[in-house]
Amino acid sequence: MNVTGEAIRVEDGSLHVPSQPLIPYIEGDGIGPEISRAARAVLDAAVERAYGGARRLRWVEIYAGEKAQKRTGDLLPRETLEAIRELKVALKGPLATPVGSGHRSLNVTLRQELDLYACVRPIRHLPGVPSPLQDPQDVDFVIFRENTEDVYAGIEWESGSPEARRFAELLREHFGVEIRPDAGVGVKPISEFGTKRLVRQAIAYALRHGRKRVTLMHKGNIMKYTEGAFRKWGYEVAREEFPDQTITEEELFSQYDGKIPEGKVLINDRIADIMFQHVITPPREFDVIATPNLNGDYLSDACAAQVGGVGMAPGANLGDEVGVFEPTHGTAPDIAGKNVANPTALILSGALLLDHLGWTEAAELIPEALARTFLQKRVTGDLARLLEGADRLSTDSFAQAVIENIRALSPGEEV
Ligand code: ATP
Repeated sequence: MNVTGEAIRVEDGSLHVPSQPLIPYIEGDGIGPEISRAARAVLDAAVERAYGGARRLRWVEIYAGEKAQKRTGDLLPRETLEAIRELKVALKGPLATPVGSGHRSLNVTLRQELDLYACVRPIRHLPGVPSPLQDPQDVDFVIFRENTEDVYAGIEWESGSPEARRFAELLREHFGVEIRPDAGVGVKPISEFGTKRLVRQAIAYALRHGRKRVTLMHKGNIMKYTEGAFRKWGYEVAREEFPDQTITEEELFSQYDGKIPEGKVLINDRIADIMFQHVITPPREFDVIATPNLNGDYLSDACAAQVGGVGMAPGANLGDEVGVFEPTHGTAPDIAGKNVANPTALILSGALLLDHLGWTEAAELIPEALARTFLQKRVTGDLARLLEGADRLSTDSFAQAVIENIRALSPGEEV
């Protein structure tokens, strides 16, 4: 690594961020290189605008995916994982997983290797972005999706395989349960440990960011010992670890006259299916949503559509010490190399990274500058299609427009 700068450290669970932190980045495959270049330029401009020369991101390229395979023969080299472990964060573009590579998904392997157990997806509408909702400005919540358990644990057997047949036998012999002999089988583990660490992070986030509610989204009425247990353990972690900072819905009405008191977070729960209705009518009800893996997957993509589609949806995958910041979308091979992709999801993922570092002044400039750019109708093709009279920009020109708007903003200014 020939870049000057210092490593971010974690001591007693807190990040210590130097003024010139080393920030590893993975360009990614498909549209990755284009959007990565654009996002880094925008993040640099935001840091420059917020702190002058007093702070600076020191980018360090690390490799995964096709680029890593060409250089090292390995899709996910050990050094890449070690660099992220050591430097504590990374900005990551989307990765393709070639069929027959030995990985189910490179993105999933990376999350598992680094134990990034919380997938954090803010869903916020930015002014000027086309939305199917009547009041899109009310959409502003953050989904905490559990990232390691549930049907995503990868425990499944194909119909007709010896394992599936053996499993059916086991169920019949030991549990008196019959399933059809030609059934494929999947297992859905949800643990107390996995649930509590996710909900703990969600509550800590809500408290840190002045959010008023954490909603546990589950299908516990049907899956009592997995999703139902998620609900139970979620309430438990609130009661046991945040007794003075959290209240339940029952307490809200019995003790607080229906108003959430200052400095406290309401913990409530909702059944997964009805959530899809409530995030649309009215979305104002939500601040932070904590949910098992599969619900979180469905909900975050559905919600991305409310705020401009996958090109707009950022994400962060957080463990106890390490965070990887990446867009929700994939490699978009259909538009790769054409300089037309929308870099907003990666730019906003970078804003989450800045916020994670505690560089909030720089982080806050980014959505403001993006909103100005959208209101000026200077957008990439995916949004130009939906916006009458829009100026259709390339990836690079869009990033330049955002940078111009960052330079024109004062830190703290709102659109
Ligand atoms: P992968 O196999 O890597 O998931 P994919 O094409 O199946 O790739 P996405 O990359 O999520 O899945 O893309 C879905 C659709 O959305 C594609 O038509 C793609 O062009 C479009 N898309 C995704 N990301 C962007 C973006 N940043 N800007 C513009 N269009 C995008």
